[in-house]
Amino acid sequence: MMPRMSEPLYGTPRESRPPLGPLSPLLDRSSTAAQPDADTLRAVGEARTAGAFYQRMGHPNLREFESLVAEREGTDGAVGFASGMAAISATLSAHLSAGDRVLVAEEIYGGTQAFSTHDLPRFGVTVERFSSLKLDQLRAALATDGPGIKMVVFESPINPTLRLCDIRAITALAREHGATTLFDCTFAPPPIQRVADLGVDLIAHSATKFFGGHSDVLAGVVAGPHALLEPIEIFRRHTGGVLAPDPAWLLLRSFLTLDLRLTAQQQNAAAVAAGLAELVAAGEIASVTYPGLPDHPDRELFEAQMTGGGAMLAFEVHGGVERARAVLDGLQVIARAASLGGVETLATIPAFTTHVTLTPEQRAAAGIPEGLVRVAVGLEEPGRLLEDLLAAIRRTA
Ligand code: PLP
Repeated sequence: MMPRMSEPLYGTPRESRPPLGPLSPLLDRSSTAAQPDADTLRAVGEARTAGAFYQRMGHPNLREFESLVAEREGTDGAVGFASGMAAISATLSAHLSAGDRVLVAEEIYGGTQAFSTHDLPRFGVTVERFSSLKLDQLRAALATDGPGIKMVVFESPINPTLRLCDIRAITALAREHGATTLFDCTFAPPPIQRVADLGVDLIAHSATKFFGGHSDVLAGVVAGPHALLEPIEIFRRHTGGVLAPDPAWLLLRSFLTLDLRLTAQQQNAAAVAAGLAELVAAGEIASVTYPGLPDHPDRELFEAQMTGGGAMLAFEVHGGVERARAVLDGLQVIARAASLGGVETLATIPAFTTHVTLTPEQRAAAGIPEGLVRVAVGLEEPGRLLEDLLAAIRRTA
């Protein structure tokens, strides 16, 4: 590892201070910065001072965004990237070398799964799978002979089933065996879950989702302790996946309303989920899964690790994938679109999108029924959303 920098080249939590000067941050698009003399040029070039040097090494709008994420996560710092996948792939690449073993949850975002399946093995990394819902599988994998597991990668709530895995137990087991945990927190950012408090080492986000919140930014970030972030920042410098000033600035703007948006989207999701639960009771749909519902299968974990149910839910229609397709086509308010976390409510069919490469049998084994519809709830009036869903469900009955 490179020697510890005197000051990190990524954002760290700021001293709290009253506003001074422009209330809206200035957008700094400079790719480089002029230095007063040759010695300063040399010093910033060698990363010995945090002065602006060259945009790939970080820039003011990015630092500010990283600071906000570090504050929110309660970590030493955060490193920002051009997308969630840039953050996740850089984190894995920076921490894994040929000969290492990594344990990746079967229930993880498809892009992370693809990077683990197609790219990591080309670099000599052995990728093993476990179900994050079955702690025995994790225990068994960690206890096998040979070189130890270097990293454990997982997420909760799980896409698209909205099941929860036991974050505290997984991190404790990993730590016992000297493995670093990488947790994808995109589906439920703080304050909905504070996973650093549950023992997670590295916390990744697709900032494209709730952090951006307006479906107009692609960005990613990973938060954690300095010792684990430094190699990631160095890898970012080497490979160049840094977040650009314009999206960083938009994220600063989005952070001003993040708590309000999360609160309102979560309330809306709870209301829609409760309405759908009535349809389940009436036999009109097969099931609804939302972490905040009292009959959620992982209720105890919900109480132990979440402060609210978040803004994601899924429901299963009767009639399989054809009925799900018809329901989606019947929506008038809710948009048919991939992604989540924005102010507009979006619906997808996992069998057609995120899990399209699996066979129906593999989807069934992963707990994903063919007729499952995933909804990312936004800021519209929840009554309108429920009416839209009800009308589409009833029209196709
Ligand atoms: N993690 C999760 C849970 C996601 O849903 C996504 C994107 O959908 C990503 C990571 C990847 O993020 P990005 O699209 O910003 O690269």
